[in-house]
Amino acid sequence: MTTNHCTVLIIGGGPAGLAAALELKHLGIDNIKIVEREAEIGGVPRFCHHTGFGLRDLRRVYSGPAYAREYQAKIAKAKIEVLTSTTVTGWTGPRQVQMTSPTGIREMAAQAILLATGCRERPAAARLVPGNRPAGIFTTGSLQRFIYGAEQSIGHRAIVVGAELVSLSAVLTLHHAQIPVAQMITEHPAHQIDWPFIPALWYATRRLGSKVTTQTEVSRILGHKRVEAIELTSLKTGEVETVACDTIVFTGKWIAEHELARLGDLQMDKATSGPQVDGALHTSTPGVFAAGNLLRGAETADHAALEGRHAAHSIAHFLVNAFWPQSGVAFCVEAPLAWVAPNRVFTSLATPPMGKFLFQVQQFCSRSQLHVYQGDRLLHSQTFARLIPNCSYRLDSQWLAGVDGQGAPLRMTVDSRSA
Ligand SMILES: Cc1cc2nc3c(=O)[nH]c(=O)nc-3n(C[C@H](O)[C@H](O)[C@H](O)COP(=O)(O)OP(=O)(O)OC[C@H]3O[C@@H](n4cnc5c(N)ncnc54)[C@H](O)[C@@H]3O)c2cc1C
Repeated sequence: MTTNHCTVLIIGGGPAGLAAALELKHLGIDNIKIVEREAEIGGVPRFCHHTGFGLRDLRRVYSGPAYAREYQAKIAKAKIEVLTSTTVTGWTGPRQVQMTSPTGIREMAAQAILLATGCRERPAAARLVPGNRPAGIFTTGSLQRFIYGAEQSIGHRAIVVGAELVSLSAVLTLHHAQIPVAQMITEHPAHQIDWPFIPALWYATRRLGSKVTTQTEVSRILGHKRVEAIELTSLKTGEVETVACDTIVFTGKWIAEHELARLGDLQMDKATSGPQVDGALHTSTPGVFAAGNLLRGAETADHAALEGRHAAHSIAHFLVNAFWPQSGVAFCVEAPLAWVAPNRVFTSLATPPMGKFLFQVQQFCSRSQLHVYQGDRLLHSQTFARLIPNCSYRLDSQWLAGVDGQGAPLRMTVDSRSA
């Protein structure tokens, strides 16, 4: 089998991988290769036809496909080699992978590897929703591919499961295909959309007539060949309602595309489902970095791109001095916190992308005081007026200077009133 060599191998041609490649080139590094399993680079934004992409990385607002085209043009202009329709399937050495493409199987060895494989939504089966599995069940990602990618017809009346930002994207996509959304269903006591996206929610509810139904779960899918109805159970009263529809879109509940990270025996973080990384985006394997939605589920594309740029600087540093932090302490959260990322501190010098840690909560919290401890030692406290599940918040990082790299794990807790 042929083994090719490169300086930096980037696995995943979405915003994180592409921004990392451009920044590496800008830093004077040559022989970068991007591997992408799809027929073209650009990642998820290629199928999100609404606006809202690129503000912080490209300093302009684009639609998803225009944003992807802008990155494609920049990569072509920088003459960075891209291997499309090529999937990395496993590892054949610490910094060597196996790839498969229509031309066959081959290996690629690199001085450094960046994993930027993104994330996906949990489909109905993974959510253990009872009932049949007829045609008409989607995630937002598969819906957008059907409508914008394959231009397939979908149905006539939809239910969107979820009431967070990506659920709005599903409603707008269905509206584009002229399919009314009867309800957005959430298990939480309220929708999980915050400013600056509230006007988009108003548009969905007031103009498009999509009602948000709270404290409700999907208890069954009905229909044989095609979805005919959905059974909903109120978590408050136990009341069961059957709603006629022919399309159901499951949104959110992200899971990292972590198969490669697991195959490579990288230390993983249970809460995010992604690999553990420190602020410089080092994983537990020397020479292997990770960035973008693989780290913790979906953030905006510009955030993923800025993480890619941050990783590029760490990679450039590694190529020069070959330093890899060996020990380090895990950074864990206690309920009702859901996760924090980055979630390891190898060295207190490695500040996270944009100087902030990201975290989410599992339930609505108001007047919250966050605390970071190492053992019993309080390192940091920060106040948040309101925390909404499925929305990410930024935690300062200046307290990193006080971390003992050989000490106890870091712990983040929250004192709050449940809202
Ligand atoms: C429905 C929806 C709506 C959104 N709306 C917005 C919005 O309005 N504004 C905004 O800023 N962001 C939005 N986002 C978020 C944005 O799309 C993502 O944050 C961004 O695409 C993440 O970039 P990434 O590079 O981490 O991952 P991705 O874009 O997912 O790219 C990862 C790439 O890796 C490839 N890959 C995975 N595994 C392998 C492998 N083994 N071998 C080779 N290639 C591999 C995949 O094919 C993919 O192309 C939306 C996301 C969704 C799902």
